[in-house]
Amino acid sequence: MTVREIVKRFTFIEILQGMSLTLRRLFSKAVTIQYPKERRPIAPGFRGQHALAKNKEGQAKCVGCGLCAAICPSQCIHITRAKGQVEKYEIDILRCIFCGFCVEACPYGAVVLTENYEYSEYYKERLYMTKEKLLSTWDKHMPGNKGDEYFKRFWCPMSADFETPPGQAVFKGKKQ
Ligand code: SF4
Ligand code: SF4
Repeated sequence: MTVREIVKRFTFIEILQGMSLTLRRLFSKAVTIQYPKERRPIAPGFRGQHALAKNKEGQAKCVGCGLCAAICPSQCIHITRAKGQVEKYEIDILRCIFCGFCVEACPYGAVVLTENYEYSEYYKERLYMTKEKLLSTWDKHMPGNKGDEYFKRFWCPMSADFETPPGQAVFKGKKQ
């Protein structure tokens, strides 16, 4: 053991250094936010809960072509058609990897990934999204012209969309 290590061990210098850092941070501005009271703005293209889009008349846009199900790498979209109608449209969210391919593949803009990320559940069955649930997610999270805006912004985000939000902690480099 070197002299330096012996001095460190008997003066508790590292503990004192740690405590002084804690004390300094105690009086500095918090870099964390108080979720859920405070929330960060959602970035464009955020991949949250799925929804099935409705047209202006309030009808589901999905025609059941199955392209989203075909491209889905997790094979978690299940569609059934009957009498020319979409009878079932289901997504097993627990298998989804949120790649967004379903949104990209859909020629009708009928499936979207909303900004909602607060849909955790105690029972996995509840995360099996049915057509009705997906349509009600659209009503809840894509009101007004938010749906039109989604397709404009999802695919063409502006550089301003990626500026650091005011108040966010910025790493200024490690002090040498
Ligand atoms: S986001 Fe990707 S994994 Fe999830 S349902 Fe769509 S295509 Fe499948
Ligand atoms: S969501 Fe789009 S791609 Fe999927 S079945 Fe409906 S219309 Fe076809």
